Amino acid sequence: MAQRQPLTIALSKGRILKETLPLLRAAGIELLEDPETSRRLVFETSRADVRILILRATDVPPYVQYGAADMGVAGKDVLMEHGAAGLCEPLDLEIARCRLMVAALKDAPEVTGRVRVATKFVNVARSHFASRGRQADVIKLYGAMELAPLVGLADRIVDVVDTGNTLRANGLEPVELIARVSSRLVVNRASLKTRHAEIREIMDLMEAAVRERREEKA
Ligand code: AMP
Repeated sequence: MAQRQPLTIALSKGRILKETLPLLRAAGIELLEDPETSRRLVFETSRADVRILILRATDVPPYVQYGAADMGVAGKDVLMEHGAAGLCEPLDLEIARCRLMVAALKDAPEVTGRVRVATKFVNVARSHFASRGRQADVIKLYGAMELAPLVGLADRIVDVVDTGNTLRANGLEPVELIARVSSRLVVNRASLKTRHAEIREIMDLMEAAVRERREEKA
């Protein structure tokens, strides 16, 4: 019989990766090389039948949607922006918590009429303002959203906020909560059927690790 492809798990670089590795370890999956120091994109693990891809956060949903990865970990912010096509989201990992917020210059006046919004979350921003009956011109940026209101590019930004320090340092303040964010385990819909037992096993172990963490914190 042909050798089966290893089960492929796509992880987001950075803060999410750091917090995901202990949960994977609890599921018996350890990277054979340190992703902090390696330039690899594909990592073998302590399980010969599992490999890990380390990607930009926004690339995790398409890799999982199209089945290049069977499973992945991505922030709810990125998942809301991407949409649910081809994915299911069976487990909240309760890590990398933050909030998706609308922010403005401190003490900025209400905007009457069309509001200009700068963000990398263009779909989230459009649907948020539409749901409030507001006309919004949404400008896509790829970084440093905080700059946009300072130089008159936009009236509002939509961004993820953790401590709020970045907003404050730039004279901005949060004005509206769009959603609470944490990282989620996502699974390709077809893989969930064709590789159910393998995926279920990892999911159950990760779920137990999440529960244990929650109980430790309580
Ligand atoms: P803060 O100054 O703590 O509000 O957050 C600073 C920046 O860190 C934000 O603008 C985001 O770009 C990023 N950030 C904070 N928390 C997260 C998270 N959980 N996921 C992704 N990016 C985050």
